[in-house]
Amino acid sequence: MILKIMQVGTPVLRQSAAPVDPARIRTPEFQQLIEMMRATMLDAPGVGLAAPQVGVGLRVAVIEDRAEAIALMPADDVAKKNRRPVPFHVIVNPTLTVVDDTKATFVEGCLSVSGFAAEVSRARAVQVKGLDHRGAAITIDAQGWYARILQHEIDHLNGQLYVDLMDTRTFVNTAVR
Ligand code: ZN
Repeated sequence: MILKIMQVGTPVLRQSAAPVDPARIRTPEFQQLIEMMRATMLDAPGVGLAAPQVGVGLRVAVIEDRAEAIALMPADDVAKKNRRPVPFHVIVNPTLTVVDDTKATFVEGCLSVSGFAAEVSRARAVQVKGLDHRGAAITIDAQGWYARILQHEIDHLNGQLYVDLMDTRTFVNTAVR
């Protein structure tokens, strides 16, 4: 089932999402939420989706950066962005620590700010700790584009959007870019 993706202006996108009770993760309801988020992300398509984007104020996000999609992009662009395939995975109650605070600046978009994009500077490397789709503790060390995806999705859980961080003069309607 494909869920409706909330657009900027919807209050849930600006609220701090609630922690997930780890005991809930293995319940059929929560597993169904994960599956619906996965299907919605794939359909959009996108490389990440946070629960508030589908109107659910919980600290959970799904991520997948598919090799098939990366293969269609110019190789120099992929290299510059340090973009590599990331298998599908779920992060629950994530905490993020910046490992390398030197900034990378690239054009970024968001499924909840449909039709627009802008340059955003983000840390090059981060470490994320949290729980996976079964409630097991995970630690993720990420660089490059994956580090950007994690920062973007975890911002969503804190009610933050890329437009809060963007270089405002680079903001474009993607139809005219
Ligand atoms: Zn987003």
